[in-house]
Amino acid sequence: MSQPIAVTRQTFDDVMVPNYAPAQMVPVRGEGSRMWDQQGREYVDFTGGIAVNALGHANPELVKVIEAQARKVWHIGNGYTNEPVLRLAKALTEATFADKAFFCNSGLEANEAALKLARRYAYDHAAERGGKEKSEIISFYNSFHGRSLFTVSVGGQAKYTEGFGPIPAGIMHLPYNDLKTVEATISDATAAVIVEPVQGEGGVLPADPSFLKGLRALCDKHGALLIFDEVQTGVGRTGTLYAYEQYGVTPDILTTAKALGNGYPIGGILTTNKIAASFSPGTHGCTYGGNPLATAIAGRVLELINTAEVLNGVKARHDHFVKGIEGINARHGVFAQVRGMGLLIGAVLKPAFAGRAKDIVVESEKHGLMLLVAGGDVVRFAPALNIPFADIDAGLASLEKAVATVAATAKAA
Ligand SMILES: *Cc1c(COP(=O)(O)O)cnc(C)c1O
Repeated sequence: MSQPIAVTRQTFDDVMVPNYAPAQMVPVRGEGSRMWDQQGREYVDFTGGIAVNALGHANPELVKVIEAQARKVWHIGNGYTNEPVLRLAKALTEATFADKAFFCNSGLEANEAALKLARRYAYDHAAERGGKEKSEIISFYNSFHGRSLFTVSVGGQAKYTEGFGPIPAGIMHLPYNDLKTVEATISDATAAVIVEPVQGEGGVLPADPSFLKGLRALCDKHGALLIFDEVQTGVGRTGTLYAYEQYGVTPDILTTAKALGNGYPIGGILTTNKIAASFSPGTHGCTYGGNPLATAIAGRVLELINTAEVLNGVKARHDHFVKGIEGINARHGVFAQVRGMGLLIGAVLKPAFAGRAKDIVVESEKHGLMLLVAGGDVVRFAPALNIPFADIDAGLASLEKAVATVAATAKAA
């Protein structure tokens, strides 16, 4: 083998399109919830690859699956079906409300498919309402649904579409957790309502149960499809396989991605027979979608996560995290609120520390902790679902040092 090309964090600034601002350290290896950088420094990982590495880094069970499938077939194209995709679709439909699955490679592709399917379904059923137009999509402020032009336009943060117009038409944004406004806005022209059960990127904000129940009733009344974007909340993240189970509200279409491949790219949608029928051959597709390598991995991920042991473990770890964060807060007084579900937790900074979430992340890195933000004012925790309790304690000890530094500089300022 030839000598690898020498690279450092500086290389990023030299040769990468600057649409990210990565941390100074460059991780080279991971094991479970621990990572090591180029200099061999060790970190506790509270990011989980942004809610992706649900079973930790280099999970031995998943390494086995990748190795075995890599020797058989990686990709064949959708002119043929394959065993792993059929097994995955069977497992997902048996474990959820859905009858049918469609696979792609990412969260945005899952949402793009869901939104297209909702419009196509309205189009296919136009005759039943005398041909009346039905294409509007209702979404919520601060929501995040991906970065294609359609999904970023459906997302509820205007800054993400700035300069990319003209954007697709027929999209409305309303306040999250405000059922009255939805009731006043939704109509028979609404094709779909898309909502995250917990807004992830938008600040780790859970939906009120009455909000989701109300959306379900309003969608039923107006013949609109209810889409749950569970790209971040899915695959065990909240302590059930999908968050809708805990809310007791069943969507018409559910989108899933992030943790489904534990880092191997895969996304998908789940829906009913009746709605799925609107994607007949030729209407939608995805070259890599449902390829045997991705779906073999996802099948094993699902098997490993959808167990009482892992899901109850998420709830136990949630309580442990919240207790730990509240303990830190009792000593340093920086957080106004700790919120979230399962292992998607947000610690909201007090107004006096507004905009300092990123500072806490940067300080944490110095103390051997990898951490996330969700906007400027929320520190986000999305670790592996199986993170050892000892690693939680070690990471929280690092967090406390970072919080102490930021609290001290704020007081000095
Ligand atoms: C991450 C995320 C997406 C986008 O997923 P990509 O794989 O980055 O395209 C969409 N919706 C939600 C809720 C997400 O958290």
